[in-house]
Amino acid sequence: MSKILGFLSQRLTSLLPDELKTGELWQLLSPRQHPLLLSQRRATMIVNRVRLFAMLFAVLTPLWGIIDIMVFSSELWIKLAILRLLTSVAFAALLLLYRPTGSLLDAYRAMAILFIIPTLFYIASHSLLSGHQLNNLSAAVATGYAFLPFVLMAGLAIFPLSLAENALLVSVLLVAQGLAGYLSWSTLNWPSFAGGFWLLILIAGVTALASVSQLAFMITLVRQAIHDPLTGVFSRRSGEEILSMQWSAAQRNESHLALAFIDLDHFKNINDNFGHEAGDKVLRNFATHLSKTLRGSDSLLRWGGEEFLLLMPNTSLEEARFALDRMQSNGLGLRPDGQPLTASIGLSERTHDKSQSYQQMLELADKRMYLAKQAGRDQICTDDELNLHHV
Ligand code: GH3
Ligand code: MG
Ligand code: MG
Repeated sequence: MSKILGFLSQRLTSLLPDELKTGELWQLLSPRQHPLLLSQRRATMIVNRVRLFAMLFAVLTPLWGIIDIMVFSSELWIKLAILRLLTSVAFAALLLLYRPTGSLLDAYRAMAILFIIPTLFYIASHSLLSGHQLNNLSAAVATGYAFLPFVLMAGLAIFPLSLAENALLVSVLLVAQGLAGYLSWSTLNWPSFAGGFWLLILIAGVTALASVSQLAFMITLVRQAIHDPLTGVFSRRSGEEILSMQWSAAQRNESHLALAFIDLDHFKNINDNFGHEAGDKVLRNFATHLSKTLRGSDSLLRWGGEEFLLLMPNTSLEEARFALDRMQSNGLGLRPDGQPLTASIGLSERTHDKSQSYQQMLELADKRMYLAKQAGRDQICTDDELNLHHV
């Protein structure tokens, strides 16, 4: 029995997307644990896909009006044409006016608008058509208006969504379809309605798979794009985004934001004496070691070869200095010859230094790092003048 269970669980886990790390599997369930940069990129992608969808519908909705002209009475097709034109304008407005901001709330709103426009069209066209006697051909075309829920359900597949988000949207569509059936209770053709509903559920299942696997790919791609492949800490490019986001947040809340510019001492010697591989290993160890001592809100970025930035939100200059002092006295790792690895650190803080931009704060930390080098390395500098009294 346990063998069968073991076999089953092994088969089932092999179904999970293997490009993901174990910790990332939770991110497929709900967006709550998504890292900030993933959320931001996903929000942008969702809005852009909404706009793509809107473009398609802005073009297709009026086109189908040609068929209306051929099969419906002029009284009916003119009303439908006005309806189609309005719908097309609404889609075009969504395409042209909605811009991605990186906020997930904005992305949800864009999706809601995308789904509300055709739903309104669906309801309006339904009530127009039900008021008319239709012959066979026009009745067949009118049935086409009932395809919309299926199109919307299948359309969900183009968005990278977590299981929870997908389930929510799917249930809204299913409830809406159920409600539509309930409202036309008296004239409802039960077997055909049940068949349609079952088809909708099948499409929902396939759609959920498509959305979640898109999300899985996105998680992997974003992870690879924002992390430095050698050390695993944030790369310079994503680092700039993090700096800018943390800067805005600190400014908004008028809170502390400390920035340390860390440059490893005599690093070139390691490469020269022990080879580039040994140098790489020291960099990796340093980054791993430092990451373990950081607070959850701190970000460590690799700014250049052997230069790192440590960004500490809600941390005053004194607190940051204290933390870095402790970090330095605990050691940063070892050089290949067994000597302790040291670093020169320049520290700046938003409120203390009255910085006007994160670039200014960064420039200051960089300058102070050089002063720390000049003052003899293996130290932290928070001043702007070379302080040589202890040399
Ligand atoms: P200082 O104490 O003045 O900072 O001296 P330093 O030798 O650390 O500084 P310098 O800027 O002269 O040299 C930095 C060296 O870091 C040069 C380069 O070969 C090495 N380096 C940069 N990126 C990498 C990398 O990815 N791997 C390895 N192994 N070495 C790197
Ligand atoms: Mg350097
Ligand atoms: Mg150096």
